[in-house]
Amino acid sequence: MYEKINGEINSSAVHVVDLRSDTISKPTPEMREAMANAVVGDDVFGEDPTVAELERRSAELLGKEDALFVCSGTMANLIAIMVHCSHRGSEIISGDNGHTFRFEQGGPAQIAGVQTSLLKNNDDGTFNLDELRDSIRKNPDCHEPYTSLVILENTHNMCGGKVLPLNWIEKVRNLTKEYNLPVHMDGARVMNAAVYLKVPVERVVRDVDTVCFCLSKGLGAPIGSVLAGSKAFIDKSRRMRKVLGGGWRQAGVIAAAGLVALDKMIDRLQVDHDHIMQIAKAVDNLKSDIFKVDLPSVHTNILMMYIDRSKVAVKEVIYRFAKVFKTDIVKVSVRASSIRPDCIRFVTYWQITDEDIRDTIDRITFVIKEFEDQLKSTTI
Ligand SMILES: *Cc1c(COP(=O)(O)O)cnc(C)c1O
Repeated sequence: MYEKINGEINSSAVHVVDLRSDTISKPTPEMREAMANAVVGDDVFGEDPTVAELERRSAELLGKEDALFVCSGTMANLIAIMVHCSHRGSEIISGDNGHTFRFEQGGPAQIAGVQTSLLKNNDDGTFNLDELRDSIRKNPDCHEPYTSLVILENTHNMCGGKVLPLNWIEKVRNLTKEYNLPVHMDGARVMNAAVYLKVPVERVVRDVDTVCFCLSKGLGAPIGSVLAGSKAFIDKSRRMRKVLGGGWRQAGVIAAAGLVALDKMIDRLQVDHDHIMQIAKAVDNLKSDIFKVDLPSVHTNILMMYIDRSKVAVKEVIYRFAKVFKTDIVKVSVRASSIRPDCIRFVTYWQITDEDIRDTIDRITFVIKEFEDQLKSTTI
């Protein structure tokens, strides 16, 4: 409809700010150079020195005994679940907004043969600890599965990049220890959590047995995640990675980018957080009844903009942010995504500049006002 009335501008002719995800980030020039010059070997033979160095450095950074380089966060979580739940008839406990439950194709059930028991996630990514205690199977009889693992997510994706409180993680550890139950942290963006809390990441993961993080999101590497834990856990994980087809050969080419990510890309995440906060404040300043943000819950590089679904559809708004017409005063295309039906998600990363943020704010302001004017004129 818009195209016919206003004339769409070819998207190659407008400035595009792509805030759909931090997975869109491309490798830095320094990463490209490190990749070109990487010393490599066959990693399945344990002979790739660059992979070994990435694993050693990651384990050190996380304060765990050992680490394993894998191709994705999904694979890291699946391996962790398979190793922790080696007993048939196992169950994991996770939040109902957890990535392993929502966005990994049911991998725990489909591939690991593990059942997931869900606790309702609070808005901050935590869940109720009494409910956790109640859902743990104590001395399971022949009717029940074995509770084998608890999974936490930090930062929490569906909760808008929120950082789990350290004292809550400690409480989870104290509770699970009573039942000898391991805890895994899906820390896809745990480096963002550490930067937000201004503590070493080692502190953030202190109370969990195993953790994984993505090199390929805000840290900018092209591919890869790291899984960490005890030496015995990583030995088993290395074996499990192979059966999933994840044994890789001269992977040092990509591990080299991961090393640059660890050296250069962690501290600068603060810039991404500041950028997201600027957008959040601008939306908040509009005092719209239809488009809202919750400033205190904007922690890291993700912003959830909540939409009054009775007034406008998320799809329509995303479309309008991105599609620029000749008659638009602000000729910038902002790309956003939605992982929930009631909100639009913006994510920042290293290639998003101060200028991109100013343009994004201009565009969002323009589009929100347009929707509000339209709604006003239709309700009169
Ligand atoms: C992105 C993400 C993953 C999975 O990472 P992939 O590399 O895309 O498989 C896992 N957990 C969370 C919370 C994520 O945001």
